Amino acid sequence: MQLKIGSIVAKRGEKSSGYVSIPGTNIEIPITLIAGESAGKTVLITSGVHNSEYTGIETAIQLAQEFLPVHVAGNIIIIHPLNISGFENRTMSVVAEDGKNLNRIFPGDPNGTEGDKISNFIATVLEGQTDFLIDLHAGDGYETLTPYVYYVGAAEMNVVKESKAMAEKVNVPFMVQSFISTGGLYNYAGTCGIPSILIERGGEARWTEPEIELYKEDVKNVLRHLSVLEGKVKINNHRPVEVTNVCYENASATGCWYPCKQVGDRIKIGEVLGVIKDYFGNTLQTCRAKSNGIILYQVSSLCIIRNGSMITYGKINR
Ligand SMILES: [Zn+2]
Repeated sequence: MQLKIGSIVAKRGEKSSGYVSIPGTNIEIPITLIAGESAGKTVLITSGVHNSEYTGIETAIQLAQEFLPVHVAGNIIIIHPLNISGFENRTMSVVAEDGKNLNRIFPGDPNGTEGDKISNFIATVLEGQTDFLIDLHAGDGYETLTPYVYYVGAAEMNVVKESKAMAEKVNVPFMVQSFISTGGLYNYAGTCGIPSILIERGGEARWTEPEIELYKEDVKNVLRHLSVLEGKVKINNHRPVEVTNVCYENASATGCWYPCKQVGDRIKIGEVLGVIKDYFGNTLQTCRAKSNGIILYQVSSLCIIRNGSMITYGKINR
């Protein structure tokens, strides 16, 4: 059986790269297909759903060049990056043409705007020819985070179990079960019965080679676990610790943000996590922890925007 997406085709034992046109738009996304020499499962690796999350994108670009059919059983589809128009216009993670966040609109709409059409195109790839999904993210351009991994939680029990097993192969300190079923790419995949994870590593629109090396190893280890990439699964020193009761705190005012803590810090209920001030130094909001726990990510830009993200933390479950 041949692997085919748009006009890009890879027969058994072949690797093929190129641009795929999103129907009804002028958008072409770079993809690479690796059809392994032997049969197996098909894994979709997506990057750049958020186009300023560069560690995920660079990881996908490098993996697309490195993977060879001789080392693969089954198929690997790599998208590098998905939101290409956002990337080329350097938006802060929205589609340039319509301002939409792709991770809020899955499964999209073939008759909608550009973002809807991109989402719908990937939804058809998911439904038609994907067994597992690995979605590569980072903190956004204005966010810093501690590395962690999400796995789908709003899905059939066996899908949740397989997603969790994938997450445990990622070499990060924390993992979060997501109970969201709509909007996000990996959440939507979960509802389609596809075990899925979303990795968060890096942020602030930066990337470094050491981070990319770690990120590539994360992906490879999950692929080895799925028997799609040859080699033994590496047992990480620490299995990711489950973080629960995750609190996604949004800002109540637009202004300047002064965080008091670092990502990965342990926090105690009632502690001040950060303050929003106006341009005259007057306090607009004091953010206090609603529970004990750990900080997963927070805004790192001076600018903070009302109703936009501010800080996210959760409880550690041992
Ligand atoms: Zn993201």
